[in-house]
Amino acid sequence: MLEKDDIVALIDVCADVIEAHADELTELDSAIGDGDHGYNMKRGFAAMRADAEAISKKPFPEAVTAAGMKLVMTVGGASGPLFGTFFMTLGKQIDKDMDQAGFAEAFSKASDAVAARGKSKAGQKTMLDVLYPVAKALAEEKSTAEITEVADAAVEATKPLTAQRGRASFLGERSVGHVDPGSKSTALLIGAVAHWLEQRT
Ligand code: ADP
Ligand code: MG
Repeated sequence: MLEKDDIVALIDVCADVIEAHADELTELDSAIGDGDHGYNMKRGFAAMRADAEAISKKPFPEAVTAAGMKLVMTVGGASGPLFGTFFMTLGKQIDKDMDQAGFAEAFSKASDAVAARGKSKAGQKTMLDVLYPVAKALAEEKSTAEITEVADAAVEATKPLTAQRGRASFLGERSVGHVDPGSKSTALLIGAVAHWLEQRT
C-alpha cells in the first residue's frame, strides 16, 4: 500500500506532467473546443499540489477521494466534475489489500461513474475512449509499459471520431481529424503514474 511520501510523489508526478503539457492541451482544445483544457487542468493539479501535505496524511483510498474533490472544486469546465468523479469513485472502490484484478475492477467502476455523470459512452470522442481501453488492459494484467501504449494508441484513435459530447460536439463532423483533449490529458496522467510505478519497483 502506498504511504504518505508515495502520495506526495504521485501528486507531484501528476501535477508535473499536466504543467509540462498544458499548452499542448490548450492547443488541442482550441481546435475543437474553447481552448481552456490545459489551463483548467493546470489550475486543478496546482491546487492539488498545494494541498498535498493534507491529502497525503490520509490513508491512500481516502487520499484519492480527497484529490478528486479538489479537482471538482478547482478544474472547472466540463472536465472538472468528470475527472473529480473518476478519482472520488476510485478512492471509494480501492482498499489497502487490493491486488491488480481488484484495482482493475475499481478503475472500471470509476470509468462507469464518469460515463454516468457525463451521460456518455465509449466512441463519443471523450476521455472515456482512453479510460475504457485502459480498464480492459488492467483487467488483462498488462504491464505498466503496455498500459501506457494502450492509452497513447487510444488517444490517436479519437482522431477519426465525431464528437458527440461536450463543446466539441457543437462542431459535429468538423471535429473529425482532431485528438480529443480530455483523452490526451487522461493518457498523460496514466503514463506518468505508470512510469512512476516502474521506477519505484
Ligand atoms: P469544457 O468543455 O467545459 O471547456 P474542458 O475543455 O476542460 O471543459 O474539457 C473538455 C474535455 O472533457 C473533452 O475533451 C472530453 O474529453 C471531456 N468531456 C466533455 N464532456 C464529456 C462528457 N459528457 N463525458 C465524458 N467526457 C466529457
Ligand atoms: Mg474547453
